[in-house]
Amino acid sequence: MIPPGADTVLVRYGDIGVKSTKVQRDMERSLETNLQAMLDSREVTGTLDWQWSRPRIRTPEVEAATAAACDTFGIVSASPARSAEPTMDAICEALAEVATATEIEGPFAVSARRAGTRDAHPFTSEEIEREGGQAIWDALEKPEVDLENPSLTFYVECRSDESFIVTEKRVGPGGLPLGSQRPLVSLLSGGIDSPVAAWEVMKRGSPIVPLYFDFENYGGADHVARAVESARTLAEYAPNHTHDLRIAPAGAAAERLVSETGKTRMLSLRRYMLRVGERVAEETDAVGIVTGEAIGQKSSQTSANLALTDRVTRAPVHRPLLTWDKQEIIAHAREIGTYEDATIEAGCNRIAPEYPETNAVLEEVEAAEPDLEGLVAESVAGIERVELS
Ligand code: ATP
Ligand code: MG
Repeated sequence: MIPPGADTVLVRYGDIGVKSTKVQRDMERSLETNLQAMLDSREVTGTLDWQWSRPRIRTPEVEAATAAACDTFGIVSASPARSAEPTMDAICEALAEVATATEIEGPFAVSARRAGTRDAHPFTSEEIEREGGQAIWDALEKPEVDLENPSLTFYVECRSDESFIVTEKRVGPGGLPLGSQRPLVSLLSGGIDSPVAAWEVMKRGSPIVPLYFDFENYGGADHVARAVESARTLAEYAPNHTHDLRIAPAGAAAERLVSETGKTRMLSLRRYMLRVGERVAEETDAVGIVTGEAIGQKSSQTSANLALTDRVTRAPVHRPLLTWDKQEIIAHAREIGTYEDATIEAGCNRIAPEYPETNAVLEEVEAAEPDLEGLVAESVAGIERVELS
């Protein structure tokens, strides 16, 4: 619930706060830039007020600004708040006004916290709770009070320069500000898993370079559309970063592997994708590759096969979903808004062989694999960029 008269959003961060002073300052600055960009991209009016590591957004659009904060990487939570002078009278008056305009069903409580120096206020937090509770009680004609099990709690945050009344805390993504880490190439298939994996590394501060392989006869226009849509959704989390989608032509590689390989086909296909990914990383200053693979999700993702595919590249391959169950991935995809993109209808000609290898040895894969170098070079040369704004 947004407190009536709300004019501010209080923003909190987590991991940034445990960094050394210098790193923290740099990250705060980039969080500030990113948050302002997020507000601007959604055309939400708001100005940031960064005081004592406690950012606030001053805004007439509290609901939309809270939502924008909760989609900004680095932010752990955000609360719509009503500001007041940091005096007992002003706090009590604001509490009474907020309570009067709120439909209170069931018992309430007041919980107060004071920040700032010991002598910043001539009252304690217990006194705020007592007197603030009394003010609400008087304003509402003896509502029920239950400090143990309230159905609504009015939180008062009293700082040196200002106080705030808050009735809810909304959860943000947490993590670190986007751009505080070097980029990673994200192998983005347009399926359910890979956008979630990309979002996870973005959450930790790494911008992504999305790379999609167009398997042409084995994929097709509707597949490309899915990939574009999921890249676009991810780009919305990164309004001040370039997240252009790279589309690599991969029809020839698919044809070649289908006609020349059997049970090790999918491993060679992955090895081909990783090799192209490595080249893209070299060109884009990216320091690794991220995929949506999880142990055992498919034959190519058994722990044995994952160990083997990585051997083809010097770039580290990151798999944030390594231990996630499909249901967890689906639930998260719904939360971040990429699930809809992944379910756009797409006709799929299968590349996979009928009996894929689940426990391959490197020599076996290499022996069966056609020379991929020409295909890799051709795909890299044919990459097209789709601008996502
Ligand atoms: P996703 O895993 O994204 O849901 P999927 O399950 O259809 O798609 P898998 O066969 O599980 O794809 O592929 C494993 C990983 O390989 C994907 O998570 C993705 O990172 C990468 N990948 C697969 N196909 C493509 C593609 N056409 N373009 C780019 N990356 C791909
Ligand atoms: Mg998958």
